[in-house]
Amino acid sequence: MDTAFFTAWITRAAEAVEADRARLSDLDAAIGDGDHGTNLDRGFAGVLRVLDSTDARTPANVLALTGTTLISKVGGASGPLYGSAFRRAANILGEAEQVDLPGLAAALEAALAAVRKLGAARDGDKTMVDALAPAVAALGAAAADGAALLDALDAMVDAANAGAEATIPMQASKGRASYLGPRSIGHLDPGAASTVLILTALRDTAA
Ligand code: ADP
Ligand code: MG
Ligand code: MG
Repeated sequence: MDTAFFTAWITRAAEAVEADRARLSDLDAAIGDGDHGTNLDRGFAGVLRVLDSTDARTPANVLALTGTTLISKVGGASGPLYGSAFRRAANILGEAEQVDLPGLAAALEAALAAVRKLGAARDGDKTMVDALAPAVAALGAAAADGAALLDALDAMVDAANAGAEATIPMQASKGRASYLGPRSIGHLDPGAASTVLILTALRDTAA
């Protein structure tokens, strides 16, 4: 996976967020303030402009520009969380011009660690962590098994989907949804849903 691959991933993620903007905001309206789709779409639209006007030379450049732009444009809890995730992943990739499956797994592991560190959410708190953590674990396990790239990415997306679904019966203990207490039960977490979109875009870029 080279710089063009990472640019294609982020472009696809931006398109997916735009296409599902209303759905993400509707999910957030049920247990938050209804802005998750517009927040992320604003951020990713900014990312596309930046990537268009910048000559990214490495995969890390692409992810660092993505992270920095999301932090500055999203305006919501998810902005710094996703932004730090992409920036931390970029740090792990360093100057590499090609990223292999173990490298990608390590980068996403670092992205998860960044989200955990900044947001302090644990598994089961009904956040994006509940989709990202199982996805990263599945990708890491597949990489360790020597799986083919697409099989590993399929396993990652399956785990993300299952993790997101599993947020429905959870009661939120982090973010705005936690203000609802037990009334947050029965709804899909919007950040878990957007994590599925971003990781599905990654899989689809490799397919
Ligand atoms: P805001 O809540 O500021 O309006 P968004 O609506 O854009 O921000 O994002 C909400 C999402 O952010 C939630 O659905 C959840 O997945 C995620 N989130 C919120 N707080 C945390 C946290 N502390 N750790 C991890 N994820 C979080
Ligand atoms: Mg919100
Ligand atoms: Mg908000």
